[in-house]
Parts: sequence; C-alpha cells; structure tokens
Amino acid sequence: MSQKTAAVIGAGFGGLALAIRLQSAGISTTVYEKRDKPGGRAYVYEQDGFKFDGGPTVITDPDCLDQLWALSGRRREDYVEFLPVAPFYQLCWEDGHRFDYANNQDEIDAQIRARSPEDVEGYRKFLEYSEDLFHEGYEKLGTVPFLNFWSMIKAAPQLMRLESHRSVYSKVSQFIKDDHLRQAFSFHSLLVGGNPFETSSIYALIHALERRGGVWFAKGGTGALIRAMVKLLEDLGGKVHLSAEIDRIETEGDRAKAIVLRDGTRQAFDQIASNADVVHTYKKLLRGTQRGDQNGKSLEKRRFSMSLFVIYFGLKKLNPELRHHMVLFGPRYRELIHDIFHADGLADDFSLYLHTPSVTDDSLAPPGQSAHYVLSPVPHLGTADIDWAVEGPKYRDRILKYLNDHYIPGLLEDLVSVHHITPFEFRDDLNSHLGSAFSIEPILTQSAWFRPHNRDDVIPNLYIVGAGTHPGAGIPGVVGSAKATAGLMIEDARL
Ligand SMILES: Cc1cc2nc3c(=O)[nH]c(=O)nc-3n(C[C@H](O)[C@H](O)[C@H](O)COP(=O)(O)OP(=O)(O)OC[C@H]3O[C@@H](n4cnc5c(N)ncnc54)[C@H](O)[C@@H]3O)c2cc1C
Repeated sequence: MSQKTAAVIGAGFGGLALAIRLQSAGISTTVYEKRDKPGGRAYVYEQDGFKFDGGPTVITDPDCLDQLWALSGRRREDYVEFLPVAPFYQLCWEDGHRFDYANNQDEIDAQIRARSPEDVEGYRKFLEYSEDLFHEGYEKLGTVPFLNFWSMIKAAPQLMRLESHRSVYSKVSQFIKDDHLRQAFSFHSLLVGGNPFETSSIYALIHALERRGGVWFAKGGTGALIRAMVKLLEDLGGKVHLSAEIDRIETEGDRAKAIVLRDGTRQAFDQIASNADVVHTYKKLLRGTQRGDQNGKSLEKRRFSMSLFVIYFGLKKLNPELRHHMVLFGPRYRELIHDIFHADGLADDFSLYLHTPSVTDDSLAPPGQSAHYVLSPVPHLGTADIDWAVEGPKYRDRILKYLNDHYIPGLLEDLVSVHHITPFEFRDDLNSHLGSAFSIEPILTQSAWFRPHNRDDVIPNLYIVGAGTHPGAGIPGVVGSAKATAGLMIEDARL
C-alpha cells in the first residue's frame, strides 16, 4: 500500500502537534503556513535586539508536549528546556494587595489566612472540586473527539454532578467569600477566552492543571518551543512551508481532494486538516461548496471569545521588583468583564496581564535590558466596531502611562522599543473571525459535541485542529485537539 499523505493548513500549536503525530504514525505530512514564521498566536516579533513572544507564555501540562517527542522515542529535553516559574503569577490590586500564587500549599494557605481566615478551608474544598473537574473534564474527555450526540449523553451525568451549567465565578464563590480571592481563583477562564461569569465551571479545572503540572517557561521563549516542534517534525521527515497561504480546499463529491495556494500551486492529498480559524476554513477555503457555504453561515452565528490588545515593549534596564507573570486587576471586575464581552465600545478602565520573561530568562533582551508585554482583553470587532488604526496608539499610550504610574516607575523614560497589535491583526494576519483571540467562546452550549467537530460531518477526509474544535483554546487545549484529530486521521488512513 502506498504511503498516505496529509496536508495541515496552519502552523499554530495545534497544527504542528497534529503534523508531528501524523508523521510519527507514518503519514507523509506537509504543513502550509501563511505567515513567514511558524507559531500562529505564538509568533515571535523581533526588533531592536528584543525577542517578543507574541502570545502564549504560560506553559501548563508540559506532559502533553513531552508526549509528542515520546511518540518517536525522542526526548523533549534534547530539543528545548523548560524552566520552572515561581511564583506562578503575582496578582495585584489597586489598593496595594498582592497575592503570590505559588505552588505550595503552606504559602497559599498563609496568604489566604492573612486576607480572609475563613477562606482557607473554602480554598481546600475548591481545590478538591477543581481536581474532580480535572479528572472528568481534562483527563477523560480532553482528548477524545465528540463526533456524535451519544458521546455527549455519556458524559452528561458527570457534568451534571459537577454542576457544569453554573459559571466558574459562581462555583468559586460557593467556596470562597473574599472578593479579591474570588477574582484570584476565577480569572483563569479568561486565559482560554472564557468569561468567568458565563463560561461553564468545567474551566475551573485550569486551577488543578496548574497545581499538578506546574507553570513553565521555554528557555529562549515560547518561540524556542515552536522551533523545537518544527525541528522534531522535520527530523521525522515532515515538511513545513512558510509564507504559503492556502487559498482554497478543492473538493470532488464529498471528498477533499487538494489544497490550492494563493500563487495557484495545487497539491493533492489523501487527508486535509485545517488549523486555521473555523469560519475562515468553511467560508473562505471551502467557498462555493454546499458544505462550506452552509457551515460557514452557521458558524458565523456562534458566540466568539473576546479579542486582545497587546503591547510588546523593551526597557533599557531590568526592574527586579517585577515577577514573570503579573495580573493587574483594575478597579472593576464583573462590570469590566461584562463590558469586554458585551459593550459596544472600549471601557475607561482595564485589567492587564504583564509578562516579564527577563525575570526567568535573560536571552530575550540585550544585556542589562528587559523584554515585556502587556495585554488588555478588549471586545472583538462584532461586539465593538472600533477603528483600531485610530484608537490603538491612544490606548497604547494610556496603558503605558498606567504601568508607569502604578507598577514600573520610569517606564516612559526607559522605553527603547515598542510594538502593539489590535483586533485588526488577529483578523488580518491570523484570519480570525471578528478578530477573536481564542475562537469560539467556551460556553457550555458551544463545548464538546456542540463545538465544530474534529472530523467534518459531511466531508470525511477533512479535519479540524486547534482552538475552534474540541476541546478548545490554550496550549493544552489545542495540543489535546491534535491528539483527538490525529486519532481519527490515523484510524481513517488505515481503512
Ligand atoms: C496574546 C495571547 C496570549 C496567550 N497566552 C497563553 C498562555 O500563556 N498559555 C496558553 O496555554 N495559551 C495562551 N493563549 C492561547 C493560545 O495561544 C492559543 O489558544 C493557541 O496558541 C492557538 O493555537 P491554534 O493551534 O488554534 O493555532 P493558531 O495559533 O491560531 O494558528 C493558526 C495558524 O493558521 C494560519 N493560517 C490561517 N489561515 C491560513 C491559510 N489560509 N493558509 C495557511 N495558514 C493559515 C495562521 O497564520 C496561524 O499561524 C494566548 C493567546 C494569545 C493571543
């Protein structure tokens, strides 16, 4: 039998993890990436001697990545090193309260006791609940494809027992009374695009995921991890084509036949998987086909996660008081999150995530200098039709001044490099529908079987991988989706 061939459209974490799994199983795999570098949301911006990781920086569940090397008897450590991050995050409020979210029960207890003694016991119960969710939602269901409604029905009793119809914030509040601590243990769903007041409490499993597997940083930045994945794929015999935008997927009857690049090049494959945005995949890449037009229209009606405004900046000195990951809560929590997901405009206040990798790794900035990024969740373009070409520079200046005044004195004087991205870049560079940063919003009615399936329902040799399919966004999510999708593709290739 001749060797089967597969094309993967997009070199995000999901696309690369899928390609590694397919190539490891003997399927000849080629990845086509639109941009000049791999990584997708994990693109690296290089300027003025700084290397800025564009997106993901918090690596949780390193085991899901190690598995990609183990498939071919290799070791991830031989390709890229993971450095532990401590504390996991420092959480800061405007009244001066700081919470070092560490992976040490005694330290966590001491900090909770100092703030709200009655919540020490509540936190323990919350951790047990989160562990239970982790077991049911991540270990059992995170890497299995939900292709039919029956698979959903089978999971339903456990999901009901865990009250997954309630929101993350409502479950956290059942265990924890203090307002700051409620924020500290509920903001995590925002990391995968979920509104803590609306997303299913299943996403409270992220807390257990972090406590179990730790929080890590790839030495050399997340870009070094992406390069390591590309090298692994190439060592296995797979191929990656950069600056290779796919214009359409050619179909014949109910089969996907070939990919056609923007320059007109056509290449036939036995199987085609898309790591690109799901609306883009159906509406653009499958345009003119009944399946593409129908499903594209239906996907457009879904709810999408918020977007992000990200400023990458270099400073001419190090600021030793900063921690690697900091969450800077603004004056409003519930109301601000409501505005980000539902208001037709930009709020006056913000809550920020500040990334300072120079704390853990000095290779990302010139000697004695420091690399940073700060991100602010903002409405996507369907929620607020903001002209970011006009508002972006103003918003950038407001955020930098806020950091200068509250957290990094002297920032404005020490600034030597700055670059920002807005929902426009998510839309135009990454082809993301409405400029959403995390694809389809992770609410219960858009999860598991209700999410676009890992294998298309109509075109049996067309597959989806990445944030838009099951289980969803975040590195562990999309790498899990690659496992689910690869399982189907490998099985189908053997038939
Ligand atoms: C700023 C930011 C910070 C984040 N921080 C974290 C974090 O700390 N930890 C974490 O776990 N997660 C984090 N996330 C989420 C995580 O980065 C994403 O969920 C994940 O990387 C998405 O991977 P993906 O496989 O869906 O592919 P994507 O990264 O979306 O990549 C898809 C690729 O497809 C390409 N493509 C699109 N259309 C075409 C086409 N027509 N032809 C060819 N190629 C095409 C795109 O160029 C892109 O490279 C963050 C996200 C952002 C935006």
